[in-house]
This record gives sequence, structure tokens and C-alpha cells, in this order.
Amino acid sequence: MGERIYELEHVSYCYKKAVQKANDDISFPIYKGEIIGILGPNGAGKTTLIKQMMGQLAPTSGTIKFQGQDILNDTKHLLKQVAYYSQETFALSFLKVWESLYFTGRLRGLTRNEAKCQTEGILERLDMNEYRHTLLKSLSGGQRRLIGLGTALIGHASIMILDEPTNELDPLKRKLVWEIIQEQNQKGVTIILVTHNILEAEKVVHRVAVINHGKLLAIDHVTKLKERVDQRMRLEVIT
Ligand code: ATP
Repeated sequence: MGERIYELEHVSYCYKKAVQKANDDISFPIYKGEIIGILGPNGAGKTTLIKQMMGQLAPTSGTIKFQGQDILNDTKHLLKQVAYYSQETFALSFLKVWESLYFTGRLRGLTRNEAKCQTEGILERLDMNEYRHTLLKSLSGGQRRLIGLGTALIGHASIMILDEPTNELDPLKRKLVWEIIQEQNQKGVTIILVTHNILEAEKVVHRVAVINHGKLLAIDHVTKLKERVDQRMRLEVIT
């Protein structure tokens, strides 16, 4: 299947005072160049897993290797390679739209010119040029999410982790986001996509990892998984 970018080995996570583990003995690899969906209902443990893959939470047990090394050994290297688009509201909400993109680009090591040029391209691609001088905090929820995606696009990340990137978007913008995800993948970017919406995601993802109650229930190519997973589980995951 090619080069392994991530290797999750028996990864568990338990929040303080929680009764149940948020992640429970999860193992699977992520390969270079794929689009992998992490699918599961509310509270399944998807965001916790992603936070562990970004080195923000250390596994309670198990290990996560990034390009062959324990991610906790070198989070700086990880942050250069991986762009993370989170569900959580930005810390940058006092910035104007163009500033949020430009400064993210600068933080990711772009020169002034590169950051300016990429900011313009992303505003254009997201059809958000008219909001360039608007404060992030004054945007609608959906517009903010688009700019959040923009901040994942800026720079030269080889891996993008997108946490429910189409939430709160209208059908046209959802289509745009799926197109952008495919464009990025065609440029060689590995995409890790957290979603509830298998019906939309199945059009773009290559493999899906299904998580529920913190456990990995299944991982496979979408078509194979659809054959294997019984109707009851599919309904539970989709709804
Ligand atoms: P959603 O789709 O609703 O975003 P999710 O699959 O991303 O859900 P997580 O946010 O990873 O799920 O949560 C997994 C479990 O961990 C849930 O039971 C949740 O209540 C619990 N949890 C999440 N964050 C915390 C926290 N900071 N402290 C304690 N428990 C938490």
C-alpha cells in the first residue's frame, strides 16, 4: 500500500475522571497519498484521536508513530508537515480574513511574497475575496469554517487533517470543499478526514476507519466496507 505516514499502535486515551475511554486500543496505519475517512457518531472518539495524532494529547497507552518516529519526540517536525483544520473556533477571531491566512502562512515558514500570493489564491478559490477585510468574528459560522479550511491550505503541508470540513455549509460550498480536497490529494497531499457524513465522504475517500465508543470497528476501502458492514451498523454510524 506504500509508505506509512502514521502508525497507530494500541492507542488509548482516557480523560480525567471519565468513566469510559475516549479511545480504546486503536491500531491502524495511514498511507502516503491516500484520503482516509475517520467515521463515527457523536462522541465516538474521532476528535480525541485526531488530537493525539497532532501531538496535542499524549496517549494514555499505546504509541503513534509519524514517519517512523514517536510523534511525541518531535512535534515541531509534525507541525511543519501537517495542517490541521479543527472544529473548534479560531483563536484568531480578532484578525481580518486576509490577515488570518497571511499570518498562518508566515507561521508555516512562507516568505512574505509566498504568503501574500497564497492568501490571494485561497481567497479566490474559496470565493471569499469580498470578505478579505472582515474580522473573522464577524463572519457567519459557515464562512468562518471556509476560512478555517483556507488556513489548512496555506503553506506546504504534505498532510491535511480536516475535522468535519463541510459542517454548516450550504450545498454549493460543500461541493466546493469536496473539490478542493480532491485537488489537494491530486497534488500529493495525504488527507485525513473526520466526518459523520459517509454519503458525502464516500465520493472522495479511499479508505474509511469506523469508530464507535472509542473502538475501531472496521477499516477498509469504502466499497469493501459497504459490502461488509451490515445495515444496522451503517444506520447507527450515519445517524
Ligand atoms: P463529535 O462527532 O460529537 O465531535 P467525537 O467522535 O469527535 O464526537 P470526542 O470529542 O473525541 O468524540 O469525544 C469522545 C468521548 O470523550 C466522549 O464521550 C466525550 O464526552 C469525551 N470527551 C471529549 N472531550 C473531553 C474532555 N475534554 N473531558 C472529558 N471528556 C471528554
